[in-house]
Amino acid sequence: NIPVLCIDGPTASGKGTVAAAVAARLGYHFLDSGAMYRVTALAATRAGLAIAPEQEAAIAALARTLPVRFLDGRVLIGEDDVTDAIRTEEAGMNASRVSALPAVRDALVALQHGFRRLPGLVADGRDMGTVIFPGADLKVYLTASAQTRAERRHQQLLAKGIPAKIADLRADLEARDLRDSSRPVAPLKPAQDALVLDNSTATIEQSVAQVVSWWQG
Ligand code: C5P
Repeated sequence: NIPVLCIDGPTASGKGTVAAAVAARLGYHFLDSGAMYRVTALAATRAGLAIAPEQEAAIAALARTLPVRFLDGRVLIGEDDVTDAIRTEEAGMNASRVSALPAVRDALVALQHGFRRLPGLVADGRDMGTVIFPGADLKVYLTASAQTRAERRHQQLLAKGIPAKIADLRADLEARDLRDSSRPVAPLKPAQDALVLDNSTATIEQSVAQVVSWWQG
């Protein structure tokens, strides 16, 4: 039995950073499922496909055979390093659109299950605990207020020298949350057996410590 710890939550809640740190602390593999949707959206755009329901079958076919690789923190499609290209606001919005297509979600299930390897897995996403790993040993739903999340996103962009207004970022992330939580398939919501952690006033280190302490029981 290979242990699985799921960390789900809304955009910019800090779950990516917390999940990666928890994985490193435990020596487990790390699944960034959002990156798979981001890569799929980018590949679809590059293939000239509109991200729309009419192209659902074509995008799903692309997702099923996507040569995506995760190497030392880099994300590759074939030999092409797309680490930065998938992190833009636009790429995030496109990922959210692509992820609302049920056939695309189905196409990515096997790829995600493949990350469950010894000694264990920390999986980061929206539906890790509800759909992909329903039998996970621990499910955490990591969240923070919209204002806090917009401020964090703002800090991240500033560090990269990208100007942005907090109010715009907040509006964008609220739009994305709404789409993610109102879609009919795998909507964003805490699993019934998830432990909810609101980290609005916590540091990353405090959140990591809380999750690790839950894990160690
Ligand atoms: O987590 P990240 O912001 O990289 O995810 C990008 C988008 O991919 C999310 O807004 C969400 O719509 C989608 N997603 C998803 N299911 C996941 C992970 C991400 O639908 N497990």
